[in-house]
Amino acid sequence: MPQVLNTRDAGFEAEFTHLLGMKREDSPDVDATVAGIIADVRARGDAAVIALTERFDRLALTPETLAFTPAEIEAHCAQVPEGERVALELAAERIRAYHERQKPEDARWEDASGASLGWRWSAVAAAGLYVPGGLASYPSSVLMNAIPAKVAGVERLVIACPTPGGAVNPLVVLAAKISGVDTIYRIGGAQAIAALAYGTATIAPVDKITGPGNAFVAAAKRRVFGKVGIDMIAGPSEILVIGDGTGDPDWIALDLLSQAEHDQVAQSILITTSQAEAEAVMAAVDRHLAVLERREIAGASWRDYGAVVVCETLEQAAELSNRVAPEHLELCVDDPEALLGAIRHAGAIFLGHWTPEAIGDYVGGPNHVLPTARSARFSSGLSVLDFMKRTTLAKMTPEALRAIGPAAETLAISESLQAHGLSVRARLDKLNG
Ligand code: NAD
Repeated sequence: MPQVLNTRDAGFEAEFTHLLGMKREDSPDVDATVAGIIADVRARGDAAVIALTERFDRLALTPETLAFTPAEIEAHCAQVPEGERVALELAAERIRAYHERQKPEDARWEDASGASLGWRWSAVAAAGLYVPGGLASYPSSVLMNAIPAKVAGVERLVIACPTPGGAVNPLVVLAAKISGVDTIYRIGGAQAIAALAYGTATIAPVDKITGPGNAFVAAAKRRVFGKVGIDMIAGPSEILVIGDGTGDPDWIALDLLSQAEHDQVAQSILITTSQAEAEAVMAAVDRHLAVLERREIAGASWRDYGAVVVCETLEQAAELSNRVAPEHLELCVDDPEALLGAIRHAGAIFLGHWTPEAIGDYVGGPNHVLPTARSARFSSGLSVLDFMKRTTLAKMTPEALRAIGPAAETLAISESLQAHGLSVRARLDKLNG
């Protein structure tokens, strides 16, 4: 049974606060292990990466076989059935088109002092994308990470993906090829993150590392942050559906289960103004759970972290949803555009009955790498901007320096930074003859 709450109940506020504070992160303390692995890779380079891959992934590599050869990539791609290839290509095309529109504009203007000011965007030179191995490897995540990097203009894009016991997911290889990835290394875990951050004789270091992974990968990303940029540390998936009684309970139930089936610590919440809808959706979830392939995982998630909240108005629903700041938010209401204005905190919003969240996971166009654990209050999903940086520009004319230089000199002196002040004064003296 999920938690069932009603805003009219006296204990509602306490129950809702408890829901917000539920700790779902299951991160074992792996930091000491990861620190040792990173130190080993920094000290021994390829030899450490190879030894750790043999130990954790039961795969014997040499510096020459760390990366897939072009022939191996072709052979894996050839194994992908036609239907999946066509679907991946459609997804890639739509993700590319969406992200093309995110490319930021440079700016340059002249202000009243005569100074020319502005900024310019440029891509990071090299990025590394972590792709989890085994069952958790999602070709859609390859597209969602690699395509924004390419659209941003990243010149060298590499993937690290462990292949335990040599097992390769051909769809991941094809997704990498379609996205324009240059090299795929068959390495994983903290050793892969360390190799990407610090480089080895064979693996050139990158500037930014993105992509999900297990606790070892997450801890390693935290540790190399600063040496390289990272995207975010993703937590378990979440969906919140707002309903007004006009939705099909079966559709809503399946949408809630589509997140619950990811992980037993995923969270699915329905907030509805209709008591009848709340009851019908809960009954539909139970019906689907009886036959769903991943019913063990989805059932545990729904039972332990699922919630159904009945409230009185859609404004109230939006307010509660903003407090959750969900990763995915579906507006399964009659007039989603009217409700949209009331929503402030959400990673991605899906409007109307015809927009299941799963469309956004694959082919909608927007990115599916999104802020979890209420971090949508202050952060956004992965975008082209994550692979770019902004450089500011300033150009003084003599007149501009005469106008604003003295204030800079005053502030420099007040901060006891004599050379700062003198660097301005020397020029002002020249201007004043
Ligand atoms: P993974 O690639 O993340 O990790 C495998 C690596 O972990 C191994 O290569 C090994 O180097 C390392 N490792 C394992 N045990 C170790 C140990 N005892 N000591 C040191 N290193 C060790 O693959 P995974 O383990 O299958 O995990 C995948 C993770 O990715 C899951 O937690 C899943 O939830 C997550 N995931 C998240 C998303 C998302 O979008 N948020 C998507 C897909 C997967």
